[in-house]
Formats: sequence, C-alpha cells, structure tokens
Amino acid sequence: MLSKRRKTRIVKVGNLKMGGEAPISVQSMTNTDTRDVHSTLSQIRELEKAGCQIIRLAVVDMDAAVCIGKIKKASRVPIVADIHFDWRLAIECVKRGIDKIRINPGNIGEKYKVKEVVKACMDNGIPIRIGVNAGSLKVLKKNPKPQWTAHQWANKMVKEAMEQVETLEEMGFKDIVVSLKADDIDRTLLANKIFASKTDIPLHLGVTEAGTFISGIVKSSLGIGLMLSEGIGDTIRVSLTESPKLQVRVAYELLKSLGLAKYGPDIISCPTCGRCQANISAVVHKVEEKIYSDPSIRDKAKGMKIALMGCVVNGPGEAREADFGICAGKGKGIWIEKGKQTKVISEKEWANEVIKKIRTFSKSKM
Ligand code: SF4
Repeated sequence: MLSKRRKTRIVKVGNLKMGGEAPISVQSMTNTDTRDVHSTLSQIRELEKAGCQIIRLAVVDMDAAVCIGKIKKASRVPIVADIHFDWRLAIECVKRGIDKIRINPGNIGEKYKVKEVVKACMDNGIPIRIGVNAGSLKVLKKNPKPQWTAHQWANKMVKEAMEQVETLEEMGFKDIVVSLKADDIDRTLLANKIFASKTDIPLHLGVTEAGTFISGIVKSSLGIGLMLSEGIGDTIRVSLTESPKLQVRVAYELLKSLGLAKYGPDIISCPTCGRCQANISAVVHKVEEKIYSDPSIRDKAKGMKIALMGCVVNGPGEAREADFGICAGKGKGIWIEKGKQTKVISEKEWANEVIKKIRTFSKSKM
C-alpha cells in the first residue's frame, strides 16, 4: 500500500507539469556530445519514441550552449540543460530557449553567479532544478574524507539544498525542483525524507551512478521505489551504465509495478522448470522486443495482461487472470483467451500471434 502522495507546488517545464497532482514523469539524459547536434537529436528521437518525457543534456562549454537553440527547436519534449561550474552557460541556454536549467550548488560558485542565473530564468519563465549530489557537497572541500553517519550526510545534503532554495526564494523565484542523490539508498532516502518534510518543492528522484544492468536496476528500483511508496517524488530518472533508452524503460516498469503508470502490457511469464518443452524465454524476448520497439503496439497493449507459460499442466490455471496468452507444449501450444482454451498454434507462430492479438484485442468484448 502506497502512502498518500506528498502535496507539492506545480512547476511547469515547457508544456509538462511537474508536481501537484500531475503524473510522475520519466526523464533521462543523453550521452552524446551535445555539440554533435545530429547524434544528439537522433538519441532524443529514440528517447521520445521510448516515452521519455523530459530530456537532459550536458552543456560542457559555450559551443554546446549555442547548439541548444537548434536542438530545442527540433525536440518534441522539454529539454533541460545540465550546467556545472560555469554559470554563463546557463544564461546562454536560457537565451537559446531551454525549458529548464539544472545546477549543482556544490560547483556553481559564488552567490552572485547563482543570482545571475536566477534572474535570467525568472525573466524567461524557466524553472531551475537544484541538483545536490552527496559526492560534490561544498562542505567536502574543507573535509574531503568525512566520517559521517548516513543521517549526518543526509542533513548536510539537505542543508546545501536549502541554502540554494533560500537564495532563489529571496529573489521571489518559486519555480524550483530539487534532487538529493547519493550512490546508496540509505543517504538518498534519508535526505529526500528530511527535505520532503520541510518544503512543498517537487522532488526529482534518483540514486546516482547506480551501476550496471542488474545491480543498477535493483538499487534504483529499491531506492526510488521506497521513496515513491512513502508518497515522495514527482519525477524520476533511473541512472544506469546502460543506454538512456533502457533507463526510460526501467523507469516506466518501476512506476508500473507500483501502479503509478501504465506502459505496455503486464507480461506474466513463468520461470520455466523441468516440465517446459519450449524456449519460452526466446518467445518472451521476441514479444517484448516487438512491443517496445513500436510505440503504437506498446500503447495499444497498455494495461493488457498477457500470459506466456511454459507448460499445459500449471499454465492454464496460472494464466486465468490474463486477457490472453499461450501455454506451451512440445512444438505447439494452447491459446487461452478470456480464461478459455480456444485453439492450438505451432511454436513458431507464438510471438506473431501475440502481436496480432494486441492489435485487435478489445477489453470491452470480455
Ligand atoms: S508453468 Fe509449467 S513450466 Fe512454467 S514453472 Fe509452472 S510448472 Fe514449470
């Protein structure tokens, strides 16, 4: 059971609402060189196709900031400039039409620089995310190897975020989003909980540098999942050492498993055992590949339950809740629809048959 969602102020990022009662949005970050407009736009297209709702780009120098103009014009979803060290890059991105700025208080420098960025954003209606990462806290400059407990770390992270929030709010600027990330769940969770109890500012969730495919997915799912289950979080980014497109898929699967988003079908597939005489894993992968490479199939399949079971002994019973599916035999399988066995189809047709059914299936006929 999820806790009631925390009440947050609404911040508009381009045409997307973040916070309030807006659905929890999914974002990712390109890993191309932003100065290579062609490659960056082609990755943006892939991310848009995967359903990514906000895309962040690293702006490493003035050339990259200049390219933001062209990229922004060609993007269908809001674009965020990720700025470290040089506040002038943020000002240039604002001039070039960026939808949001992300700054890290630990490395943007003196207060007057932050104020310049805030003024430019305020004049142009651009929100700012204050992104606090445990590894780049200002306080670490004086004490690079602290022996703090997770609680102490979390309090320092919140303190630095609040200092920036105060600077922005003193100037009358309210379009603020905050993220507090560490590379472990303990500090990330504690920092977000403490921050959430103090303000109504929307929170961007993530466990930073979570790792590779398996370890990163487990860590991100637990970390982000625990925060969401406490009603905390308005937008999420899953950080993996994997393609940005995969990060988006994982983010949606995470939201979907908590009932916070619909994205493609629920595939009920068994782990297989000695009773299975077919390659169910290959069929499931083929079906998923077809669904997630084509947004029209993915969207049509939204909310459907599809069972792909390894045998006709336990399969039919376990697939009862599904809208349709297959229980595998040797070389052929039973097709189940609305709880009934309707036909037998050969193994090589299974994946195509599932896709064909997604295209024509209507829940209302049930
Ligand atoms: S459905 Fe059949 S093959 Fe799959 S795990 Fe259960 S008993 Fe084994």
